[in-house]
Amino acid sequence: MSLSDAELRRYSRHLSLPEIGVAGQEKLQAARVLVIGTGGLGSPAALYLAAGGIGNLGVLDFDRVDESNLQRQVLYDTASIGMPKAELARMRLAALNPELQLQAHQIELCAGNVREIFDNYDIIVDGSDRIATRYLVNDACVIYGKSLVSAAIHRFEGQAMTYVPGRAPCYRCLFPQIDAAATPNCADAGVLGVLPGVMGAIQATEVIKLVVGFGLPLIGRLLTYDALEMRFQELRFARRVDCAVCGERPSIIAPQDPPGFCTADELRRVRSISAAQLAARVKATGQPISLIDVREPAEFAASHLPRAINIPLDTIEQHGRQLPHAGTVIFMCRSGVRSRQACALASRMGVSEAWQLEGGLLAWKAEVDPSLRL
Ligand SMILES: [Zn+2]
Repeated sequence: MSLSDAELRRYSRHLSLPEIGVAGQEKLQAARVLVIGTGGLGSPAALYLAAGGIGNLGVLDFDRVDESNLQRQVLYDTASIGMPKAELARMRLAALNPELQLQAHQIELCAGNVREIFDNYDIIVDGSDRIATRYLVNDACVIYGKSLVSAAIHRFEGQAMTYVPGRAPCYRCLFPQIDAAATPNCADAGVLGVLPGVMGAIQATEVIKLVVGFGLPLIGRLLTYDALEMRFQELRFARRVDCAVCGERPSIIAPQDPPGFCTADELRRVRSISAAQLAARVKATGQPISLIDVREPAEFAASHLPRAINIPLDTIEQHGRQLPHAGTVIFMCRSGVRSRQACALASRMGVSEAWQLEGGLLAWKAEVDPSLRL
């Protein structure tokens, strides 16, 4: 028996459960689990996994703690503001359970580093808030044969599902493509602070069940939670033979970054101009300035700024050579999310004076021209 006296005391409530017992606790001790994103979902998931005795636990996050995170990211406290999340999470988990092997990955996951990181783990917990990362993680789990417990949250709703190699449909079986219209979510939707607590705890539950091997995992079932109605529902789904990653003839055989993927660093480096500043620049003569509206054609057709040209975000990379490489280029969208991404892509393609309209056309309507129809 490999459990010490201290561990027998610490895990005594697990040991009393016939479904876990000493043998189950030893499996937990030998488990290798990575939590991606130590935010709203990753905080409770990692805390419960560490408390429950997952012996080798990694946490991955590239971000730093922001004051607005504290409403739901329970790994951190007020003194954490501005500090790197992954390392802080590791310290907090070590204080909770000093016997664990803990690893902090203060890095942004991408196609180039996912294999090296995943090599050290058997189960991946996806708590990232970026849809591009969710697809990358799913594809990597299928390709490298890792189990995956995925969850997502939006306003008052959460969803969760589990993937086990060879036994289950994957995330892409359920949602085959990244929805281009939904990806750059222009509305900062908000989230009920306690919602990720529920979903992150569900993720930790699934991991413990998978490791020990009891109960029924969320395989082929998408669990949805509606906090407003206080209702759980499940949607059953099957493996698709034409799934791009787990199907009969997969087209995705290596993890890849989606088209238009920008790193957090690239997004952070984007320069912004306010609506009032832009209005002044447009009026001033002699300064060459190009206005590029990156919304969808139907949005552009409804209303746009004079002299603006329409290059939807998902075609920016194809238009790389045609982008104006001289003078100032201002990218704009409805609220400023898509334009930030477009601006980062343009900078990468060599547009040196790329800026984005802060707050988008909503800000323009509020500050400059109320007649704009949005
Ligand atoms: Zn699939």
